[in-house]
Amino acid sequence: MGFFRSIKFQIWLRFEMVVAAILAFIYIFLILLFPMFYEWMKVEEIGRALVTIQSSWYDDDIKDVIEITSLSNKMHIEIYFPQTGGTYVLPNMGGGLSIQNIPKSGYQQEVQDSPSGIIYRRFRDERENNSILMVCSYLGNSRERPDGYIFICTYLQPLGSTLTIFHRQFAFVTVITVILTTLISLVFAYRTSEPIIRMSKAAKTLPQGKFDGSTGSDSFEELKQLSETLEQAAKEIARSDDLRRELTANISHDLRTPLTMIKAYAEMIRDLSGDDPVKRERHLKIIIDETDRLSSLVNDILDLSKLQAGVAEMNIEKFNFADRLNGVVSRFDILRENDGVNIELNAGASILIEADPVKLEQVVYNLINNAVTYTGDDNTVIIRLYRTTDRTVRFEVTDHGDGIAPEALPYIWDRYYKVSDRSKTHKRAKMGSGIGLSIVKSILEAHDFRYGVSSEVGKGSTFWFEAPDPLAPPEEPAAKAGRTHKQR
Ligand code: ADP
Repeated sequence: MGFFRSIKFQIWLRFEMVVAAILAFIYIFLILLFPMFYEWMKVEEIGRALVTIQSSWYDDDIKDVIEITSLSNKMHIEIYFPQTGGTYVLPNMGGGLSIQNIPKSGYQQEVQDSPSGIIYRRFRDERENNSILMVCSYLGNSRERPDGYIFICTYLQPLGSTLTIFHRQFAFVTVITVILTTLISLVFAYRTSEPIIRMSKAAKTLPQGKFDGSTGSDSFEELKQLSETLEQAAKEIARSDDLRRELTANISHDLRTPLTMIKAYAEMIRDLSGDDPVKRERHLKIIIDETDRLSSLVNDILDLSKLQAGVAEMNIEKFNFADRLNGVVSRFDILRENDGVNIELNAGASILIEADPVKLEQVVYNLINNAVTYTGDDNTVIIRLYRTTDRTVRFEVTDHGDGIAPEALPYIWDRYYKVSDRSKTHKRAKMGSGIGLSIVKSILEAHDFRYGVSSEVGKGSTFWFEAPDPLAPPEEPAAKAGRTHKQR
């Protein structure tokens, strides 16, 4: 069954179907309808012959006219003179066709009675298996007293041999056409399907992240593009495979570290510090901190998968973003006190925004958390929240850390992506899983907010997003159309 559905067979089949349709068309017109066309032609010819002879009746060369008309049209012509009862018969040019046995006098009355003075009669010639058309009319100026009567006869069907030649020729053309088109269509089917088959074979290695983009380079433009796309996809698969492997390693590591610590300190409390309140307090605090790290990591992973599966519902409301921002920043108080992180917050007292407050809080938290993690020697993070003149509310977090290399910039928003420069030691050991920014991206895209980052290696980064300002007056339609959406 597979063969009949293969592209090669299907191309061949369609090709043959087109040829069959063309042959059928030719057969119908040339062979089946030919006798009909022939008959039309003959009826026309006989009419014309009659007119020619009638109009030349008094000419000197009337004999020649009759002869030429008879010869060139293969017609049998007889002229009957009622006064004398004589008949003028031309040498039989109608191919054995004869009306000599037809009683001529019988038609005189009919010609007199017919409105046009012309009558047509049809006979069957069994011997020739053909139909004869006879036209009869009068000659001379007066219909009542004509000089004579003219009878012209012609076969209505092509002679048998003509048709036989036609049939034979058609059969010959059919056989040649079928052989030729079969060969051509086989070559054509092979040449068309071959690159597709080649590409399909090559694509079997796609799941392993491999595909040779040159597979379709010598083929049709569309296949060339497809081949390039597949190569791109293979690279993406390979990359995401690598990222996943790295993430598994990272997460296992990130999970194991706090777990080891928790176990070690729990054992310490059991064996050593259980009775010493001060030490016990300190060890318990470490256990609690490590547990927090664990749950925050697990939450991150859960949040992202929920967001990306579209499970997380959005609860859009209008609220004071500045208030919420203060709340988020205060969550970093411990770091401010313990590590001397300097968080500068520049926000108006009341900045309204329309969004899901919980999700937006998460965005802000992740961005600030990254800035704090990757901050520079000045240990400073600058946060700005303001209404722009461009009808938006803009949020920015700036740090003066290492910044991000331009080639890494497009990828930092991807899930599991971490800039893999292990030589760098950050201010704070971060349980980076590479999903913080992809959560940010998912949430901001769900809101349809513009977002982005500008970063310079060695100088620091500014992450930002912009939301429509609910307090801005309604916009002119023309200005709205010109605005671009989402920019990174
Ligand atoms: P992670 O948990 O590793 O921080 P993110 O998704 O939050 O994951 O960030 C992805 C990567 O982007 C990080 O590994 C880091 O290299 C880079 N990055 C994010 N924020 C900053 C920043 N403020 N400064 C420098 N690099 C950053």
